[in-house]
Amino acid sequence: MIASSVSETTTRTSIEEFDVLVVGAGIAGVGGAYHLSTQRPDSSFVVLESQDDFGGTWRSHNYPGIRSDSDLHTYGYRFKPWTGPPIATAEEILKYMGDVIDENDLGSHIRYNHKITSAKWSSEDNKWFIEATQTDTGDIRYFSANFLWMCQGYYRHSEGFTPEWAGMDDFQGQIVHTETWPKDLDYADKKVIVVGSGASSATLIPAIADSCEHVTLVQRSPIYYGTGRNRNDLAETLREIEIDDEWIHEIVRRKIIHDQSIFHRRTFEEPEVVKEELLTGVRDILGPDYDIDTHFTPSYRPWRQRVALVPDGDFFKSIKAGQVSVLTDEIETFTETGVRLKSGTVLEADIVVTATGFNMNVLGDIEFSIDDEPLVFSDTVNYRGMMFTGVPNLLWVFGYFRGSWTVRADLLSDFVCRLLTHMDGKSAKRVEVKLRPEDEDMELLPWQDPENFNPGYLTRAMPLLPRSGDKPEWHHSQNLSEDLKTIPSIDLDGDEFAWG
Ligand SMILES: Cc1cc2nc3c(=O)[nH]c(=O)nc-3n(C[C@H](O)[C@H](O)[C@H](O)COP(=O)(O)OP(=O)(O)OC[C@H]3O[C@@H](n4cnc5c(N)ncnc54)[C@H](O)[C@@H]3O)c2cc1C
Repeated sequence: MIASSVSETTTRTSIEEFDVLVVGAGIAGVGGAYHLSTQRPDSSFVVLESQDDFGGTWRSHNYPGIRSDSDLHTYGYRFKPWTGPPIATAEEILKYMGDVIDENDLGSHIRYNHKITSAKWSSEDNKWFIEATQTDTGDIRYFSANFLWMCQGYYRHSEGFTPEWAGMDDFQGQIVHTETWPKDLDYADKKVIVVGSGASSATLIPAIADSCEHVTLVQRSPIYYGTGRNRNDLAETLREIEIDDEWIHEIVRRKIIHDQSIFHRRTFEEPEVVKEELLTGVRDILGPDYDIDTHFTPSYRPWRQRVALVPDGDFFKSIKAGQVSVLTDEIETFTETGVRLKSGTVLEADIVVTATGFNMNVLGDIEFSIDDEPLVFSDTVNYRGMMFTGVPNLLWVFGYFRGSWTVRADLLSDFVCRLLTHMDGKSAKRVEVKLRPEDEDMELLPWQDPENFNPGYLTRAMPLLPRSGDKPEWHHSQNLSEDLKTIPSIDLDGDEFAWG
């Protein structure tokens, strides 16, 4: 059956064959290409990317002020020192990634404008057969690969999530989402409402506040913010005493990971103390008379949602300067000239920006099948957040909610390369994970515990995500320090791996 469908394809057009196919040229996919070319120089590989250039998140987001909220010592790759201030703009991150591509001659491996639409595993051939549409010409291209490395990120790049509010069609102004920001949007001297609290709105608001007539942030509920300086004292000191960039990168990276793991632990052990520390940072800028209780005191313990970093407190300085107001309220309806909130407050606006989150794309919105049977990821159990029961030769990169995505992308790159080398050593053609006898009665749980982390995009997508279990092997720990120890020492001959 498979053989016939594949040979039908072959007659239509030629199939390009590779050992490994990497999906996506964001920070994870470009890192994957680097690791493959250095750790597995004899493997052939291709990276397929639907956008017209590399960068992923940093290419698709254009809103003013766009920047990381992680430090670049950890968000940057393990193998390439970051030498600038810790928080970086999208442009700086793209430059850094571009240097990685150029310095390592990775460009020839990347095909842009290639949107993968289907991935079919054939057990007869022990290969994935991939169909991609060229977004610039509409042509269909066919590829095959023994291993599929999923670096597609976690959300749909073409659209953000905007709730349906009453009266949106009546509004005479413009409604824009931060994810699809029109490059020519004129907000000078305009009344702007930004809906939704999070890293995006906290980044956007200080970048536009100077130009706008006024900005009002309307948030349903408050979130936590960190307000540190955009400077790493340890890195500065090491630079002053002329330590090499490579050493500085590694030392500062380890120190940050260490500090983050302590912070993470403290949010469970002493949440009230951590909460007070975060609120003090905000109070120090806004002053004692500002209503911090209403607008900046969340009802949950820190880290149940990501803490948005506001370098040098710029977002709060815009509030303090009177350029920005905050209303903790909900939109009841749009009107012709703005919005009416549930409290009855009426706001006038020329532009309403919805910073209301993402739509998750589970594994790149690709149609998967195994031997002609549709693959439903929610029927699988997820091995350490990276492989799926019954799905051969595929690894999924999903980073950290609370730490830098790239730390895990680097770690999983080592894992893929080790897995492929082990495969060669065993002369195996396929590897998948399976529940062990001792896992058979394991209770299957949602992919992430909503008590632990519960942003809207994840809650909305939970029915599409794989299941997890209550043993370390069967869930994404979201614990960077633990992964740094565990993942490199995984026994590839353990009972959870099935080789063929
Ligand atoms: C504004 C913003 C700021 C962020 N800041 C941080 C931060 O500071 N720290 C942090 O850790 N995380 C941050 N994140 C999360 C961020 O998405 C990840 O850190 C990281 O960019 C993910 O990298 P990636 O390469 O896995 O995915 P992405 O950056 O999402 O790139 C995936 C690529 O895969 C491509 N792709 C997807 N599906 C297909 C397909 N079917 N065919 C072909 N190509 C496909 C996409 O076009 C995209 O280019 C931020 C997210 C946003 C939106």
